[in-house]
Amino acid sequence: MAIVVVGSVAFDTIQSPFGKAEKILGGSATYFSLAASYFTDVRIVAVVGEDFGPEYESVLRQRGVNLDGLQRAAGLTFHWGGEYGENVNEAKTHFTHLNVFEKFQPQIPQQYLDSQFLFLANIDPILQAQVRRQMRNVRMVGGDTMNFWINGKRPELLATLKLVDLLLINDTEAKMLAGEANLLRAANKVMAMGPKALVIKHGEYGATIFFGDRKFGIGHHPFRAPALPLDEVRDPTGAGDSFAGGFMGYIASQEELNREVLKRAMFYGGVMGSFAVERFGPERLQNLTREEIDARFEVFRELTHLD
Ligand code: AMP
Repeated sequence: MAIVVVGSVAFDTIQSPFGKAEKILGGSATYFSLAASYFTDVRIVAVVGEDFGPEYESVLRQRGVNLDGLQRAAGLTFHWGGEYGENVNEAKTHFTHLNVFEKFQPQIPQQYLDSQFLFLANIDPILQAQVRRQMRNVRMVGGDTMNFWINGKRPELLATLKLVDLLLINDTEAKMLAGEANLLRAANKVMAMGPKALVIKHGEYGATIFFGDRKFGIGHHPFRAPALPLDEVRDPTGAGDSFAGGFMGYIASQEELNREVLKRAMFYGGVMGSFAVERFGPERLQNLTREEIDARFEVFRELTHLD
């Protein structure tokens, strides 16, 4: 079943201990779409500027991503610059040039309106809410955000969180959003803001899902999925969005939405995140096969399985 994603389609300038890349394809919706495209149909809602050439669009088109909702506006494409040191879990933002996103008015193409799944990737929470309100037939809404919005647009973000079923954020973001240092208490506080389940990502250490709704077994223990220990993390950019793409993409490919599906989805999220970080930018997500993905899923299973 198709997923609509709203988020950034961007240029990134990235520095890591492995080198530097100037103005390469990035953005939360880009990573999400590429990762989810191995599981289901993906439809993008975003905006790019005049500097976004057809060669970038074709990266998404080649994975079958629907770009009917990708607007082109006068001005420059969103541009993010960041750096990673030895700690791969922590990006230091150098700059965030919103550019064409400052005046973006999301329009949902008619042919997207039958989509049952929606993902509000990391972008201004006002835009996330605008898209959510236009998608009346969705069965499940996933969402993401980051410190930039938690600190900069908190009231707007709190309004958006009421519209989200499943939120995916990292430890620092969860603690910042909740104003609470203990992870479990922070998770419960965040779920009280709206989401029925919460995925907290721990970077290279994996991710935990907390269940806050009867449908998923309220009061159940959380479930933790590992991350794959890799000998080279070249560029962690997009790991979180790729996790979300694998996670939501797998969910959208299933008939039922229950705890077991969510637990398996955590592993598929980890699989897609692990591919994303092996190369600079989204390169590794462009030419995978479902066999490679499933083989890595088995490695994840072995990582945690007890006889
Ligand atoms: P992550 O999965 O968290 O590493 O996401 C990295 C991607 O998020 C990069 O490709 C950036 O272009 C994008 N990004 C960074 N800051 C923002 C922001 N404030 N709003 C939307 N997208 C962003």
